[in-house]
Amino acid sequence: MIAIYPGSFDPITIGHYDIIRRSSILFDEVIVAIMEHPLKNPTFTLDERILMIEDMVRDLGNVRVVFDSGLTINLAKKLNARVLIRGIRAVMDYEMELRNASVNKILDDDIETLFLLAMPEYSFISSSAIKEIAFHNGDFSRFVSPMVYEKLKVKYQK
Ligand code: ADP
Repeated sequence: MIAIYPGSFDPITIGHYDIIRRSSILFDEVIVAIMEHPLKNPTFTLDERILMIEDMVRDLGNVRVVFDSGLTINLAKKLNARVLIRGIRAVMDYEMELRNASVNKILDDDIETLFLLAMPEYSFISSSAIKEIAFHNGDFSRFVSPMVYEKLKVKYQK
């Protein structure tokens, strides 16, 4: 079975990676989908985000990266993915995810959203928190891959 894991990944963190790794054990193939959001102004370009994810998931044999700007369920259908994976860190995530999953279920009943709980030690990690630490010259090396670390340093710590 194929699963799709959509998100902004701006940039990918160790928390995202953990969800991808755990999903890759459960499914034959995991497709990480970078979804372009018309209202979001990303920090990293699409190419940079693809590169950073591909670099990090290289050791997992059944993961690939795609990007799209449409509805996630349409992409899932196109890619033959029956399962849509999302990570939940706290109640705040749950409220938003409940809304998204419910809308998706109404739009397409064939696709199931599967929630994986964040590992407790990663539950406070978000792309935006890491960018904030980087901006203020804090040490964020534990939360990202060496490639993402370098890219964030170049961007924020001149
Ligand atoms: P989006 O803009 O779609 O929320 P993100 O890239 O921020 O995209 O997140 C993609 C998915 O990964 C979401 O389901 C989010 O809850 C989950 N996620 C983000 N950070 C973590 C983490 N540290 N642990 C587990 N799941 C996470």
